[in-house]
Amino acid sequence: MNISMEISTLKGVGPKLSEKLNRCGIFTIYDLLLYFPRDYEFIRSDIDFNEIDGEEKQILSCRVIGYDRDIKTKTGKIITTIKFDYKGHIVVGKWFNQRYIKNSYRLNESYELVGKFKKVGNLLEVINPIIGCRDAKKSEIIPKYPLKGDLSDKIITKLINQILDEIVITDNLPEIMLEKYNMIGLDRAIREIHFPKDKNELDKALVRLKFQELFTYSMKLLLLKNNLRNKNGISFYWHKQLTNLKEALPFKLTEAQTKVVREILRNQKSNYPMNRLVQGDVGSGKTIVAIIAMFNVIKNGFQASLMAPTEILANQHYKETLKILEAFDVEVELLTGSTSLKEKKRIKERISTGEPIIVIGTHALIQEDVDFTNLGLVITDEQHRFGVEQRNKLINKGRRPDVLVMTATPIPRTLALYMYSDLDVSIIDKLPPGRKKIATKFYSENDRMLAYKLALDEIRKGRQVYIVCPLIEENEKMELNSVEKLYEELKDDVFKNVSIEILHGKMKPKEKDELINLFKEDKIKVIISTTVIEVGVNVPNASMMIIENSERFGLAQLHQLRGRVGRGEYESYCILIGNAKNQKTKKRMEIMVESTDGFYISEQDLKLRGAGEMFGIRQSGDIGLVLADIYEDIDILKCARYEANNLISSNEIEHVKLCREISNSIERYSRYICFN
Ligand code: ADP
Ligand code: MG
Repeated sequence: MNISMEISTLKGVGPKLSEKLNRCGIFTIYDLLLYFPRDYEFIRSDIDFNEIDGEEKQILSCRVIGYDRDIKTKTGKIITTIKFDYKGHIVVGKWFNQRYIKNSYRLNESYELVGKFKKVGNLLEVINPIIGCRDAKKSEIIPKYPLKGDLSDKIITKLINQILDEIVITDNLPEIMLEKYNMIGLDRAIREIHFPKDKNELDKALVRLKFQELFTYSMKLLLLKNNLRNKNGISFYWHKQLTNLKEALPFKLTEAQTKVVREILRNQKSNYPMNRLVQGDVGSGKTIVAIIAMFNVIKNGFQASLMAPTEILANQHYKETLKILEAFDVEVELLTGSTSLKEKKRIKERISTGEPIIVIGTHALIQEDVDFTNLGLVITDEQHRFGVEQRNKLINKGRRPDVLVMTATPIPRTLALYMYSDLDVSIIDKLPPGRKKIATKFYSENDRMLAYKLALDEIRKGRQVYIVCPLIEENEKMELNSVEKLYEELKDDVFKNVSIEILHGKMKPKEKDELINLFKEDKIKVIISTTVIEVGVNVPNASMMIIENSERFGLAQLHQLRGRVGRGEYESYCILIGNAKNQKTKKRMEIMVESTDGFYISEQDLKLRGAGEMFGIRQSGDIGLVLADIYEDIDILKCARYEANNLISSNEIEHVKLCREISNSIERYSRYICFN
């Protein structure tokens, strides 16, 4: 069997099934083999009668002792009943609308029945049980796959079994490494992850495959870093006008900003390409740092480009850049999806002439026909919104340009070193002076009126207010509803004398922009929004944010959202409305109320949830980890990284070959993103 063949070449996979599998991201046999279960069902077997609880599925070896006559219910359903014996107790098995089920159960034969067995007096009752595996094992572990549509675990299981029957997987790690960490081989690990014999085997398989992922991941980052280190980049001298620019700024740079600017300028001067991550909490002033970096590059006669994840943000950066650099004779262009065709053409032509301009934009910047000829610096803002791929696309538009990525997602330092080990890290760890702590409160659903009253108070004082509703996953319609519903509720009621508008992801970029601009000009007092407002929008006059269903957000996201207020000179407030049903939610809301320090919050969030969930790493597919979690599996990561480092720095032929193989397999490896 050639596992790189299309899935449709597998026996029993027709066009229909093939399409369904495609929808789960499964295109080849290889993809299916690496389509790991999301979870497992553990079924206990052959337990004592008094241990049976009817809550969890169990597997009991039952012997057929008789059949009842079928019964028809009032609603027309047919109930078939078979009686069994289990350790001297009668088990009544009932099936709905499965008349022929009797043919599957022969008198006096024993079957491994799987189902929830309920005690009814001295009897056991089980509805729609199925036949489990035949050899009497202590327990059975049933894989649960992350499926879409009407695919069933049964089909996936069958197909994977079919594949495993025909192949042997050769190992891709050296024997010595496996022995050193007492890890099982790849073949066994893949078999066990799909069909674990027992919990112990499953754990071993997990360790092996997590190691695999983290090792590949480490290799990828280290190779990238090596690659960059060994190449010549552009050396930019420090332009004399930098001093003038600093003097002309509307504020004095904070110490933290100055330090980061210095780190960047030092990179710019060096012969090697810069590859730097700037981390700074919301409002710490990353934009100005980016502008200074771009300024120096332009003044050296090169082009600079800044990519933002949304049009709103690109626009804002564009305006800010124009304003700051107004007196310095610098050309700035804005290129986004909603730039008119004519404008686009003009800007693209300008870009391709190689004249030193700053180009700010969205994904539009990485389109094929955008042809930088003289690109010296690439900046991506809010890095966590982009994948590595997108970043690379922009980088590849130049010849080893300097690279700066900026993020407001505060990541504890140790973790950042591992996550972004291909990058040098700068941290803006202090906010500009005069910022007030954003007073945060948690209100239960019943007290929401109180929150709106406070909002009215703010509006009376001349301030503005955001109300944010959660994005309801995979259902844009519902998302829309929740914003629209709230809008309808409020506009003729609490806020009937106030200008109030809605903002959501389904609006055209242009409409969004117009709305934000009206808000900036204070022509709108209240914006009801989905999380599109999250990234970077800067309106200093907004002093209150109300977040509905706050329990649905991650802490990092709440922190980001809250950062939209408290940007001006006014006392600011954030009111979290929600349902603190369980302890964990309560704890999470308490963290938000008690602290406005992004790093503290992220560390607490990490403790409560694990890294994958927190950064949306898995969802974004940014680093291609499926089973491993950078935080929880930090011990495995350390070993994997150590080995990767060893391998890359050694010169043995075997190792070089392995390096190459791994870097080739990376594409593939980052593919199983579907796993959730
Ligand atoms: P973020 O790091 O979240 O991108 P911004 O760059 O948008 O933050 O900056 C937030 C606000 O702080 C902006 O209004 C900006 O003009 C202002 N700002 C930035 N640096 C300083 C500073 N050193 N002193 C005072 N205000 C500053
Ligand atoms: Mg920003």
